[in-house]
Amino acid sequence: AIWNLGSINADMVYTMPHLPTAGETLAATELDQFLGGKGANMSVAAARAGSLAHHIGAVGPDGKWAVDRLTEYGVDTRHIAQIDVPTGHAIIAVDQQGENQIILYSGANQKIDQNSLKQALTQANAGDILVMQNETNLQVDAARMARGLGLKVCYAAAPFDEVAVQAVLPYLDFLILNQVEAAQLERSTGKTPDALGVSDVIMTLGARGARHIDGNTGVIHDIPALPVTAVDTTGAGDTFTGYILSGLDRGLPMVNAMAQANRAAALMVTRHGTADVIPDLKDVLDARF
Ligand code: ADP
Repeated sequence: AIWNLGSINADMVYTMPHLPTAGETLAATELDQFLGGKGANMSVAAARAGSLAHHIGAVGPDGKWAVDRLTEYGVDTRHIAQIDVPTGHAIIAVDQQGENQIILYSGANQKIDQNSLKQALTQANAGDILVMQNETNLQVDAARMARGLGLKVCYAAAPFDEVAVQAVLPYLDFLILNQVEAAQLERSTGKTPDALGVSDVIMTLGARGARHIDGNTGVIHDIPALPVTAVDTTGAGDTFTGYILSGLDRGLPMVNAMAQANRAAALMVTRHGTADVIPDLKDVLDARF
């Protein structure tokens, strides 16, 4: 099973005549609300890929709809607490040209309670996988606890923060990053990805596919991206992460798990939207590229 200490956001997308400037009051012509947050996206991807995905997190009094939606998408939501802090959200203004402006508020995502984390993880089995991203509190506690319980620990270093990634690095089995994050990490540690002490480093390379770096042998394995016309790349990385972990959880060898994740992410970039449109395993296996 997959245990995800992860963010849950309401993505509020406002359609605007133009992006508001300082001091301006401007009416939106439309509002769409979507389920988002890297954590929620990864849980949905892992569940759609066929794994038991347990989400550990928190929402506010206004977050019931997000929990309901995660449940509907097959995620175990019993370890999502409802607390007295607003649900994390993104206020996204989009103009007629598709240019955007985003206000992020982490809210409940940064107020996850230590006891509920402990309660959740003690129900995990040795060999299960813990995944985290840099949008919640308790990352180091979770990594340490999971390691102690015999779980494998995966970190997606996004949004990138040098201090946050270095703090969890000693506990990791898997590290997943995109090219920009990989360059930032190399700059801040002075080490190449194979020298970080992490068994498996996975770099996503956008339209060039993905790379696996074996931390023990230094062997690099590249898989090319599938030929698709990308219309919306939001959530592609999260879909990739959810799928690769699910593949490993279902017993696939690394290279096969990566190939499946690469297919899922390719399909994802052909769709508009995030959590709501993450493909399921059948779609991924049936897809013709
Ligand atoms: P992020 O969105 O986190 O920055 P990437 O841009 O590296 O991550 O994309 C994640 C994965 O999505 C890639 O490894 C690849 O599998 C897939 N992907 C992204 N862009 C494309 C594309 N244009 N064509 C095919 N696959 C893509």
